[in-house]
Amino acid sequence: MTATSHDVINPATETVVTSVPLASVEETDAAIARARAAFPAWRDVAPGDRARLLRRFADAVDADRENLARIEVENAGHTIGNARWEAGNARDVIAYYAAAPERLIGQQIPVPGGLDVTIHEPLGVVGAIVPWNFPMPIASWAFAPALAAGNTVVLKPAELTPLTAIRLAELAREAGIPEDVFQVIPGAGTVVGQRFVDHPDVAKIVFTGSTAVGKQVMAGCAQHVKPVTLELGGKSANVVFADADLEAAAAAAPYGVFDNAGQDCCARSRILVEASAYDRFMELFETAVRGVVVTDPADEKAEMGPLISAGQRERVASYVGSDAPVAFRGSAPDGPGFWFPPTVLTPDDPADRVLHEEIFGPVVAVVRVADEAEAVRVANDSAFGLSGSIWTRDVGRAIRVSRAIEAGNLSVNSNSSVRYWTPFGGYKSSGLGRELGPDAPLAFTETKNVFIAT
Ligand code: NAD
Repeated sequence: MTATSHDVINPATETVVTSVPLASVEETDAAIARARAAFPAWRDVAPGDRARLLRRFADAVDADRENLARIEVENAGHTIGNARWEAGNARDVIAYYAAAPERLIGQQIPVPGGLDVTIHEPLGVVGAIVPWNFPMPIASWAFAPALAAGNTVVLKPAELTPLTAIRLAELAREAGIPEDVFQVIPGAGTVVGQRFVDHPDVAKIVFTGSTAVGKQVMAGCAQHVKPVTLELGGKSANVVFADADLEAAAAAAPYGVFDNAGQDCCARSRILVEASAYDRFMELFETAVRGVVVTDPADEKAEMGPLISAGQRERVASYVGSDAPVAFRGSAPDGPGFWFPPTVLTPDDPADRVLHEEIFGPVVAVVRVADEAEAVRVANDSAFGLSGSIWTRDVGRAIRVSRAIEAGNLSVNSNSSVRYWTPFGGYKSSGLGRELGPDAPLAFTETKNVFIAT
């Protein structure tokens, strides 16, 4: 039997926070019907008025930032510092796309015999399916540009983390966005998510989650020739060359993989170190890993909290068996909570699964590479291609290696991948399409060409 509600568990204490009803197929259909009915009026809201409503929505999120952050600490075990950033990111993304309705500019193309213009028309109802690892940012990357382009949105949060999405929908209503224009529908992936994919009145799917489910979503969308954006898994490489500022690279490396307890699609979960710098890097890296503050995520000093669930901890632990090549580990609290210490592995076998599978926990594998060519080869020896880092003082090498690595988001002398101004997405099994950046609203439109004979 399908569950009708979900107990939300605080991952740091294992206590029940609240219980959230899960929508049925019938309730999902009713929500899609309301979104469909609300579409023509929302599409026809004057661009300046739609912009104003989105700016008010961003202001409402800003005013509620601390509350949203506290909810995420309790629901997802995110550190309070991270959760504040996430609420601020949702605000910024909504504010950024509030400028889009007035700038959805088409082209006038020179043709013989008349005037030719292109128009970006909204699609209708957009279905957004969101994972549990960054509930607020990932939701906003989907709904903000979709709403800005004139679509209505039905959004399904992950079963484990529905609370901030529910609050964001309340804030949208408080800001004056009509209720049926942006609806959050908590429910099971196989019920609500699957229905979004199968329902003929959902015009597009934007999915963030695992590669396995993403492939099913894409196959389902194919039945309707339904456009789909996929943001999937990663196994990103952090490449450290001997000419880099090794102190800076080693000090930053733990946060490039252990942030959000490693539950980050952009986690630099493979560190590739040029052989001549390997020993020095590992010495510095060990000090940095032991210094990561793993504690109660509500503590202002916390740098890493627990994993999301008991199941996730079991999955992560399966990669660190008794024979695992552990080089060193950080600390984690005892007692209740789904804790797992930062763990550094040094596998010998290039085929070792810790170098190829997304662990989605605080586990990193470090390997030696002989030179630039081997670094590029090993970095690309992955089914994934989401992000990655290159640490070097040689500008030419930074550019060569950035061009050579098959991934959508690379940083040089930095481990940060996400900026709402710039496009985000993956190569290979990491996804299809891009979110964020100036073009995101276009992913929620059809381009219509109109020729007017003169
Ligand atoms: P998941 O694939 O299990 O679930 C993602 C969402 O899909 C959830 O809301 C789930 O309920 C729903 N879902 C499950 N089955 C479905 C179905 N048959 N049809 C439609 N929807 C269904 O992923 P997760 O465990 O929640 O999230 C972790 C994964 O997300 C990791 O692989 C991570 O790399 C990936 N991720 C990717 C990005 C990115 O931008 N590339 C960002 C964050 C997370």
